[in-house]
Amino acid sequence: MYAVANKSNFEEPNTEWMDDANCKGMGCEYFFPIETKGDTAKLNNAIVKAICEQCIVRQECLDYALDTNQKFGIWGGLTESERSNLSQSSKDKRPA
Ligand code: SF4
Repeated sequence: MYAVANKSNFEEPNTEWMDDANCKGMGCEYFFPIETKGDTAKLNNAIVKAICEQCIVRQECLDYALDTNQKFGIWGGLTESERSNLSQSSKDKRPA
């Protein structure tokens, strides 16, 4: 039997935490950079991570990104590759 997604069993993720985000009103270009490699990307990531470090909803942001499988951008202070590594390491720790 297959589970069928419909409006009655689909739970919208909570996004109220976004109101308290440090990045609220900031340009998307910093958190969703086009360049992900090189010196410019490293500098951008360092700036964004410093902003996220001081954010009071950092954990909620990271949980949202993981729960909704966000593929791009920096969420909760982690880049897409860092979130991927985090997801993989938690899968590796599950009992077989
Ligand atoms: S943790 Fe970073 S990306 Fe997430 S809401 Fe806070 S400032 Fe924005």
